[in-house]
Amino acid sequence: MSLRQSTLGFIGLGRMGQHMAANLFAARPNDAYVVCDASPDAAAAFARRFSAEHPAASIHVAQSPAELAARSSTIISMLPSTPHVEQVYLSPGGIHDLLATLSAADAQRTLIIDSTTLDVQASRRVSQRIQTTGALFVDAPVSGGVTGAKAGTLSFLVGGSSAAFTASSPVLEAMGRRIIHCGEAGAGLAAKICNNLVLGVQQVVVAEAMLLGQRVGLDPRVLASVINSSTGACWASSENNPVKGALLNKTTPADRDYEGGFATALMSKDMGLAQRLAEETQTPIPLGEAAQSVYKEMAESDAESSRLDFSVVYKYLAR
Ligand code: NAD
Repeated sequence: MSLRQSTLGFIGLGRMGQHMAANLFAARPNDAYVVCDASPDAAAAFARRFSAEHPAASIHVAQSPAELAARSSTIISMLPSTPHVEQVYLSPGGIHDLLATLSAADAQRTLIIDSTTLDVQASRRVSQRIQTTGALFVDAPVSGGVTGAKAGTLSFLVGGSSAAFTASSPVLEAMGRRIIHCGEAGAGLAAKICNNLVLGVQQVVVAEAMLLGQRVGLDPRVLASVINSSTGACWASSENNPVKGALLNKTTPADRDYEGGFATALMSKDMGLAQRLAEETQTPIPLGEAAQSVYKEMAESDAESSRLDFSVVYKYLAR
């Protein structure tokens, strides 16, 4: 069995995790690797692909997050949302319980990086419990999507102590380009959720403007170029314009019938997280609430749109 100190563990090999793990492992060729996923097929398929590309690498598929934590001192997780993170770290027989059985020295040598986008308070609870064992923990949600995960150009928004941020930076640099320390535990998530609140609202209003403009006779390419060079400019229009063919020299999800990109279901989840934070802090977010109700109505009226890029909101409004 490989040394725990020189073994990297990755939990959650979905759309994002499989690329992040591949980049991280390739950047640390002298280490050993352990992977784990609730879908054993996903973990086994990743291990097969990685071994084919790196025949000398030592990679093991763990049967549980606890087995993974027993074998590796650096652990990264990329899970769907709050219940999955709570289950992996805090459920009986999960990672917290395993860390509590290690020697103090081994527990203190453990670094945990959770890159899931989840509820801020839930992440803080996980962070606190994990830190009682002596391990370091950061929340490090990402911006950049599947394209950024593949290219290793993600932005990581990190929450945790200075010591945990310093320890996690070299690991995150293997998977991303910008590593930003946002503050104490939960701060990375808070920043991520606020950013996606802006994005979620902007994508709806860009869809509204593109639809309105065409209905009064504007060519969508002319309208997009006016917005993109004027005060309405934003990513939702200049990179993710919801109208097919509106951007010259750029291919958007709209050009691919909204395939790929950031799923409406994930945007809706993130807007829900923003609403929850707003309720907890008694912060008014009327535009966020309005945009979230549009995404919700859309998903309820057409299940297919949940998996498509959230700019499909344009098609929904047009109908
Ligand atoms: P995904 O659903 O494709 O992958 C999640 C993986 O976690 C799956 O393979 C699933 O089997 C596994 N999993 C679920 N529960 C588990 C458990 N208890 N133990 C072990 N494995 C478990 O999701 P994704 O698109 O990779 O997104 C992951 C996170 O990244 C989400 O929080 C999402 O909001 C965030 N995110 C995604 C994107 C994107 O474009 N997809 C962009 C930015 C942030």
